[in-house]
Amino acid sequence: MTERLRNNDFKTKEAGLRGDYGLKRGAADSLGSMRATIAEKRRHLCCAKSKMASKKCKNNVNSFCYICGEFIKVRAKKFSFSTNLKLCEAYKAYFNLTIRSQDKIWAPKFSCGNCKNTLEAWYRGEKKCMKFAVPRIWREPTNHINDCYFCVVDPRKRRAGKNAKKIEYPDLPSTTRHEIFSGFFTKEDGLCYCNDVKGLFAAIGIPCVPSEWRLFIDSSTRSLKAVLLHNGNTFPSLPLAHSVMLKENYESIKMVLQTLKYEEYAWPVIGDFKMVGFLVGMQGGYTKYPCYLCLWDSRADTLHYKQQSWPERIGFQIGKHNVQNEPIVKADDILMPPLHIKLGLMKQFVKALRQDSPAFEYLKRFFPKLSEAKIKAGIFVGPQIKKIMASEEFPELLNTYEKQAWLSLKAVIHGFLGNKKDTNYKELVSNMLDNFKVMGCRMSLKVHMLHAHLDQFKDNLGAYSEEQGERFHQDVMDFEQRYQGQYNENMMGDYIWSLIRESSYLHRRKTKIVHF
Ligand SMILES: [Zn+2]
Ligand SMILES: [Zn+2]
Ligand SMILES: [Zn+2]
Repeated sequence: MTERLRNNDFKTKEAGLRGDYGLKRGAADSLGSMRATIAEKRRHLCCAKSKMASKKCKNNVNSFCYICGEFIKVRAKKFSFSTNLKLCEAYKAYFNLTIRSQDKIWAPKFSCGNCKNTLEAWYRGEKKCMKFAVPRIWREPTNHINDCYFCVVDPRKRRAGKNAKKIEYPDLPSTTRHEIFSGFFTKEDGLCYCNDVKGLFAAIGIPCVPSEWRLFIDSSTRSLKAVLLHNGNTFPSLPLAHSVMLKENYESIKMVLQTLKYEEYAWPVIGDFKMVGFLVGMQGGYTKYPCYLCLWDSRADTLHYKQQSWPERIGFQIGKHNVQNEPIVKADDILMPPLHIKLGLMKQFVKALRQDSPAFEYLKRFFPKLSEAKIKAGIFVGPQIKKIMASEEFPELLNTYEKQAWLSLKAVIHGFLGNKKDTNYKELVSNMLDNFKVMGCRMSLKVHMLHAHLDQFKDNLGAYSEEQGERFHQDVMDFEQRYQGQYNENMMGDYIWSLIRESSYLHRRKTKIVHF
C-alpha cells in the first residue's frame, strides 16, 4: 500500500463526510447523547482533580508504551516522541489521532520498538499493519488503587517460556481500548458476525428496537455484508456480518440470517432485487416471473404498458412460478430499494436513446472515463445521475419525446424517490411511465415496481433507502485498509469504538469538519 494510495483514501473519506456521504449532523449528535452512559461513568471518575504523580506509582510511567500500553522491558530500547518525528507522523496517519498529553506526568512519553517498527514500516508503504486500530488513550488517573494503570499492571519478573503467565493489561477509566466491543463478534469459517445484537446495542447505549432499523444485505462476487441501517438515518450504520468466503447464493444468505438470529428480531430487509429474490426463495437470473409480489410475466412485452395489475403471488409454492426454495423473509418485510429503482429507470432511459444521437455523444464526452459499453448499457451510479440531472445542455440535445421522458424522470427522482414525497407523486409516476412508453423504453422489473406496486412504497423513501448502506462502504474503508480487507472481531470492535469516539469529537468541535 503506497502513501499516495493512503492519502487518496483519506481524502475520499474527508470529501465524503463533507458532501454526499456524510452522516447527518443530527445523527452524530444524537449518538453522542446516547453514549452519555459511558461518558458519564468516565467523567464521574475523572472529576476528582487530584494531581496524580508518577513518583507514587508502583511502576514508572515511562516503562509503558504510549501506543500499545505494554510494559517495555528494562533492557529493551524505547523511543521518545520528541526525537522520533517520523513516528509521530506515522501515528497520526494510521490512527487519525495526534500524540497528546506529552507535557503531563501521567502520560507515557515513549513507544516500544514493536509499535515504532510496525508503524514506520506501514508509513513507508510496506505491507504491515498494527494488531489494533485503536491505540491506548490516556487520561489523568484518579486514584492509585483501581484507576492507575502504572499501579495496577504488574510487570514483575516472572518465569519465561511457554507456560509463563502473560502480563494483564486492564481497561481502566483512565485508559481504555476497544476490547469491550470486539467480544460481541465471532469469526468462524470465514464469516465474522455479531453474536449478541441486543448486548451490542446495550453496550453502545442505543435502545434495541428492531422496528426502528432495517437490515441491509449486500452481496457481490467479492463479499457478503449485512448492516443495520437506522430508519431516518439518525444513528450511524452498524455492521453485523461480513464474509469474503461465502458465495452469493440462497444457502449463504440463509446461514447468515440464522447466525444473526433473524427470526428473533425480524427487521425489515432491504437490498437489490437479486437479493430480494434469494430472500423469498426465487430462482436467480432472467426468469419469467421475477416479481416477488405478483405474477407479472417479464416476457410478455406487448402487455407490459397495457396491463397494470397481475395475479397476486399468494403463498410461495416450491416448484411453481420460479420459486425454488423456502422463503427466508416474509414478502411483507421487504422494503423497496429506491436507489436501485432510480438506477434502473436511468438504465432503461439511456438504453432507449439512439446511439448516433447528439445526446448519446454528449454522455460519452461528459463521462470520458466510462467505457462506451457501460454507457450503452445505461450503467451509472448515483452521483453520475446527479451530474447529468444538473446539466443544462443535456436536455437541449434530446428530441421531443426523449425530452419529455427525461424531464418526467427527473420529476420522479425529485418528487418521489428521494427525501420528499410530493402530494401528486402518483401523477408524476404515471406521467413518466407514459413518456417512457412513447420513447420505447423497455419495462424492466424496476419499472414494473412503479407501474404495478406503487402502494408498496414507504412515505419517506429517503428515510428507508438502501443508499445509507452504500455510504457505509465509504465509512469502513479506513478500517478495511488497516486490516488488509480481513474483517475480524477486532476490526468490528474498533469500528464500533470509532463511531462512539467520533460522535464525542463532534460534540466538542461542532463547527469544524469532522474527520473519522
Ligand atoms: Zn499510580
Ligand atoms: Zn507499543
Ligand atoms: Zn409485480
